[in-house]
Amino acid sequence: MLQKMIDPQSVITFAQWVEQYQRFVIIGHVSPDGDAVGATLALWHYLKGKGKEAQVVMPNSFPDFLRWLPGADNVFFYRNTNHNQKNEDRVKNLLAEAEVICCLDFNELTRIEEVGELVRQSKARKLLLDHHLHPEYFADVTISFPEQSSACELLFRFLQDLGHYEEMNVDTAACLYTGMMTDTGGFTYNSSRSEIFYIVSLLLAKGIDKDVIYRKVYHNYTSARLQLQGEVLSRMTYLPEFHTVVITLSKEEQLRHDYHRGDSEGFVNLPLEIRDVMLTCFLREDTERDQIKISFRSIGDFSCQQVAKRFGGGGHKNASGAERYGTSLEQVKQEFISLLPEYKEELEKCLRKEQKAPFCVCKR
Ligand code: 5GP
Ligand code: MN
Repeated sequence: MLQKMIDPQSVITFAQWVEQYQRFVIIGHVSPDGDAVGATLALWHYLKGKGKEAQVVMPNSFPDFLRWLPGADNVFFYRNTNHNQKNEDRVKNLLAEAEVICCLDFNELTRIEEVGELVRQSKARKLLLDHHLHPEYFADVTISFPEQSSACELLFRFLQDLGHYEEMNVDTAACLYTGMMTDTGGFTYNSSRSEIFYIVSLLLAKGIDKDVIYRKVYHNYTSARLQLQGEVLSRMTYLPEFHTVVITLSKEEQLRHDYHRGDSEGFVNLPLEIRDVMLTCFLREDTERDQIKISFRSIGDFSCQQVAKRFGGGGHKNASGAERYGTSLEQVKQEFISLLPEYKEELEKCLRKEQKAPFCVCKR
């Protein structure tokens, strides 16, 4: 049995909305990842099954390796690679006419950029279901559990509380599994609670093939992408005194390696394979906007979120991000490196603890 976590009143309220209303819009965060796309599509399948007019809207498009997800063709993007007034108007209309707006896998409206103000202004009832720290309380129903591995894990619990498990179909299960898998790096971090695997077993019972899903997501690269990874790693800046690695990806390298959106997914995790590395920083020049996209990852007790905050970003303890406009890769890199002495002591302390970490989470 799963422990009940979600306030029953939230479940009742949403169930009433499903009874009462017809037009639902479901939104995930900008630069949607597997969890954002998985969660929004899972809820879309649920609402479609209830005969609702449901539409998933994303601030911008998602990587190709998520296109196989059932229902992905129906997602609507506010912004495509090109500025498109028609798309924007359509999203404005959808949000103005929506009776219920469901916000999944983000904690504050700035995480959906311009769409955020449209959501704020909309008269619709609003649900926020998320696992990031510090939720913004703009919704009528806020379901926020930062200790959950993924929005998809939390959504599974919510759907089960809504009495949906029995009739859940394999498409919904595949979407939920994909979000749980991607937000835990294939169940390699943030995933030592036994209930996660209980939920996985319930999803497997719906008939998903987890091995195929893994390959669709993680074994879906071009040779150019793998060569790009080799090049990025070969140029990494390893700072052993700070147990930190910085890697960068310039526009020029992206052009040379036929870069597609999502090709650098996972790069930031790779230097963590070095035994004493506690913190990684990946900087990518965006080819669409004049910005540097920053990703941070950390190990154990060291919070990379505190570092992301220094760059105006946020996220989770061990996975965070930020964006910087009107600057260069080199400038951001130097800024990051110049902050490291402040964290040196903490990084060392966390590394020592990590090296002594027991293999079990139970007290013996
Ligand atoms: P990623 O490095 O995979 O893009 O993001 C890692 C985590 O950091 C995700 O949970 C994401 O929600 C969060 N994140 C990424 N970029 C930003 C950002 O610019 N601002 C904030 N607040 N969070 C971010
Ligand atoms: Mn997530």
